[in-house]
Amino acid sequence: AKEKVLAPTIFSKIIDGSIPAKIIYRDDMCLAFHDITPQAPVHFLVIPIKPITMLEKAEAEDQGLLGHLLLVAKKVAASLKLEKGYRLVINNGEEGSQSVYHLHVHILGGRQMGWPPG
Ligand code: 5GP
Repeated sequence: AKEKVLAPTIFSKIIDGSIPAKIIYRDDMCLAFHDITPQAPVHFLVIPIKPITMLEKAEAEDQGLLGHLLLVAKKVAASLKLEKGYRLVINNGEEGSQSVYHLHVHILGGRQMGWPPG
């Protein structure tokens, strides 16, 4: 599991353009793109360019970056007309069901979300 955490992920390849993705937004700090296996009518991810593996590994110096990810998430959600609401999720680690070890915020919308999640 440790090697997996340290290895570059598929998201690094999306950042450098070596594999395609449906990119919605990009700036010098982050990238937003549609999830390849959408769990809702709208499902996109916002990821930092900086390869932070997981929220657990973020540090005080990442505070501004973490805030930026949320502000980009809401801006992109608005651009996709999710005015009725949406869900943000960060899966952290094994029991959080994280599968790609490059920090990402999921944004899901376009249907009623259930609570609590499974
Ligand atoms: P996690 O389970 O780590 O929180 O979420 C990883 C997400 O990345 C999953 O929702 C999965 O569908 C998505 N994903 C994995 N590989 C790719 C890919 O190559 N392209 C895109 N667009 N999404 C991916």
